[in-house]
Amino acid sequence: MTPWFDPSLVFVGGAWRPCASGETLPVIDPSTGVEIARIARGSATDIDAAVTAAEAALSGDWGAMPAFQRGRILARLGQMVLDHIDQLAQMEATDVGKPLTQARNDVIALARYCEFYAGAADKLMGETIPFQPGFTVYTLREPHGVTGHIVPWNYPMQIIGRSVGAALATGNACVLKPAEEACLTALAFADLAHKAGLPPGALNVVPGLGAEAGAALTAHPGIRHISFTGSVATGRRVQAATAENVVPVTLELGGKSPQLVFADADLNAALPFLVNAGIQNAGQTCSASSRILVERSVYAEVCDRMAEAYRALTTGPAMADLRTGPLISARQKGIVERYLAMADPAHILARGQLAPDLPPGGHYIAPALIAGPAPDHPLAQEEIFGPVQIILPFEDEEDAIRIANGTLYGLVASVWSRHGGRQMRLAKRLRAGQVFINNYGAAGGVELPFGGTGLSGHGREKGFEALYAFTTLKTVAAHHG
Ligand code: NAD
Repeated sequence: MTPWFDPSLVFVGGAWRPCASGETLPVIDPSTGVEIARIARGSATDIDAAVTAAEAALSGDWGAMPAFQRGRILARLGQMVLDHIDQLAQMEATDVGKPLTQARNDVIALARYCEFYAGAADKLMGETIPFQPGFTVYTLREPHGVTGHIVPWNYPMQIIGRSVGAALATGNACVLKPAEEACLTALAFADLAHKAGLPPGALNVVPGLGAEAGAALTAHPGIRHISFTGSVATGRRVQAATAENVVPVTLELGGKSPQLVFADADLNAALPFLVNAGIQNAGQTCSASSRILVERSVYAEVCDRMAEAYRALTTGPAMADLRTGPLISARQKGIVERYLAMADPAHILARGQLAPDLPPGGHYIAPALIAGPAPDHPLAQEEIFGPVQIILPFEDEEDAIRIANGTLYGLVASVWSRHGGRQMRLAKRLRAGQVFINNYGAAGGVELPFGGTGLSGHGREKGFEALYAFTTLKTVAAHHG
């Protein structure tokens, strides 16, 4: 997989150029541990140049462009993404280590975000407000200005689609800092956006380290909004930095999302979701379902059936396109292994299988299903970010809610039950930004607002809701007598 652009450059003001320091960072293929490319080590100087280019775009063609025209560019971009599906999927699979089919799904999701926000661009409206006689009062939704986007390595294309897509649709100019572990598709996206007709400076991409390019972006006084997706620890730093400039921030952080399985559930329908939501992308998914809570009377049966499904899981290189690929890095593998070491070996119900002849430099872990640590055990409380699921029994609805809501996170939850009243009660009482009933994740749903509570963050992206987040509201009160 060789990118069609030079990945060692930054994309600023509609052109490729070396970063100010001229230094580069390695791109490692997690399936093999082998370096496959170099990316720019962007710094504060490059971020400053990107913000300047974005400001110029806002006072030039981009700022003057009517909303429907922005939509047309996004629509063209969505089509170009689909036209490059093979290259983009291979690039993402090699860079992130995710199985090729999952990477293809991410390309499709990126195109869907472009399409959705293309259609929405000219449909965001203000209101007229009944006020006193002699006044006409209305609201205008205006772009923030230059928006900063900090993206993690696990789903680069999807996260870029949902945040940059909405920000461009509403007329902001973006500076994107992708993750140092995986940023090839971010650069590819910028190249395609340029070719789709996005004016210079409307989207700038500066790869680099979090503590350097990332911190410089969050602290830059020209940035008017930050969208951050990543860990809780970094989210805290980002929020503190944006507080200095009194700038709004959306934080999409981690989770410990539960699926609640009641005895009356359709277990055949639930089973694939119970397993897949935990192991997709090798569990490196913010909305992974890492806790399965099961009503006591069917607990043994669900344990058995999930264990059987786990034993059939295979793990191997991204291009082998098995159920799970490697973890992103040796560091991430080490974190997951430390959590696994906390488990009582007798409680490990099942492991998946590692494919034979794995490349020795890859970061592989066979998925693990662990039964019954106490709900307050670190395994049941902390985000592991690997292919590890915890399965716990509950006694009744009240107990289920207590355990489900008993972590500091609140991103996603699901309820498996045929009982309508219970579905509605739980949907209200579960602490989460999204609740699914008899499904999990709704196939990604670009139309569905997404975000968390508690340590999972605040603010919403995706759907129409993101358009409100990426605009600021102005009230105009005209006194005409
Ligand atoms: P991370 O916080 O280390 O890195 C995320 C991004 O932040 C990267 O681009 C990184 O370079 C940048 N960054 C690091 N330090 C920075 C700083 N001081 N200032 C500004 N930017 C900085 O997270 P990670 O380990 O790459 O990603 C895994 C975490 O992200 C998990 O906790 C996961 O749950 C979370 N995540 C959440 C979502 C969501 O939508 N809620 C999606 C994906 C990942």
